[in-house]
Amino acid sequence: MDKRVVVLGGGVGGTMVANSLARSIPDEVRRGNVKITLLSNEEKHTYQPGFLFMALNEGRLEQFQRKEKTMLHPGVDLVLDNIVKIDRDGKRLIGEKGTVYPYDFLVISTGSFPDFDSVPGLAEGSYNFYTAEGAVKLREALANFRRGRILITIDVPHKCPAAPLEMTLMLDDYFRTRELRDQVDILYTYPIGRVHALQSIADWAQEEFESRDIKYETFFNLTEVNPQLKVATSLEGSEVQYDLLISVPAHKGAQVIRDSGFGDEQGFIPTDRHSLKMLGEDSIFVLGDATNLPISKAGSTAHYQADVVVQNLISELNGLPSTAMYDGKVFCFVESSMNQASYVEFNYTHPPQPAEPSKMLHWFKLAYNEVYWLSARGLL
Ligand SMILES: Cc1cc2nc3c(=O)[nH]c(=O)nc-3n(C[C@H](O)[C@H](O)[C@H](O)COP(=O)(O)OP(=O)(O)OC[C@H]3O[C@@H](n4cnc5c(N)ncnc54)[C@H](O)[C@@H]3O)c2cc1C
Repeated sequence: MDKRVVVLGGGVGGTMVANSLARSIPDEVRRGNVKITLLSNEEKHTYQPGFLFMALNEGRLEQFQRKEKTMLHPGVDLVLDNIVKIDRDGKRLIGEKGTVYPYDFLVISTGSFPDFDSVPGLAEGSYNFYTAEGAVKLREALANFRRGRILITIDVPHKCPAAPLEMTLMLDDYFRTRELRDQVDILYTYPIGRVHALQSIADWAQEEFESRDIKYETFFNLTEVNPQLKVATSLEGSEVQYDLLISVPAHKGAQVIRDSGFGDEQGFIPTDRHSLKMLGEDSIFVLGDATNLPISKAGSTAHYQADVVVQNLISELNGLPSTAMYDGKVFCFVESSMNQASYVEFNYTHPPQPAEPSKMLHWFKLAYNEVYWLSARGLL
């Protein structure tokens, strides 16, 4: 068949697809009939759920990073380059120094990124746990925080819809353990009329908030942050004074998607919800945060989607139709304190129902933080 499969993005989805494809068709890869190239602009592979633990001083960045090269099956060629353009007509990608990467099949898993410039004052005035650098700074700020109000603002869409809830519930416990909770006021805000996009999770979280004196304000769409006065203003007219602001801004798709002239307004790629092909494109698959699908942007989403993309790729490489279907499956552990967790599992048709929090689920989450490295290599 002599085909070139190019995978763009060395995060969860890209790494899993490249490894699983190489493992599934070893003979074709060994004979050079199928050449798998993974393009990434980062030498290190980062396990982003670790940022939550880093911010609360429960982990260090080194624990959550590996060299991408060490993550890959020997049948996958890793090329480090920042891709600046995807030329769909010419079936090629262009790197920042002009290198051209032709493809027969392209898999896009370029992720999503918090837009700290989406609100005036946000970049200077807020802390975050959605970047490695942000988590390190927040760890210091929280360690030194002894009294006052922590305001948490959230905008959509953002990856890992559970993470802001986890941070809020863990912060409550973090300050209780440090015997500072009665001096620390926690105010969580959310842009719609409940505390989470999914009703069942919102009901669960609201009950947790109320039982622990975590304050919340819904219909809070952040429009401005004044870092000097430490005031956050919402579209709805609220002006909230804070001492420390933790923000999860709206996310955008990767720059290369927007610069290549496709993707919706936010840079997410119109994708078929079942086959995971880019709409209108027969040779491009999209997975993970980069899609525009109405499903959580999560590592587990990318994981389940990787199986479908690989099955469909193998069919297409053999001249067969793509019939494997993604059903919208997502699975997430949800930390409910520093030592308890719940979990949710859902798909396009079945809404989530949070499980009763337990210590055992928390230990499963911590175990998965380690198991992830095997899973991304396709060994588990
Ligand atoms: C604090 C936090 C907690 C989280 N917790 C969970 C959790 O508990 N469970 C869960 O399932 N998910 C969680 N997530 C979400 C999860 O990390 C992401 O959804 C997942 O990483 C998405 O995978 P992806 O392959 O789409 O993108 P990513 O893993 O982000 O990978 C994108 C890759 O594309 C590369 N790239 C982008 N543009 C280019 C370019 N132009 N050229 C070359 N390479 C490029 C990047 O370098 C990166 O390697 C969490 C995220 C955060 C921030």
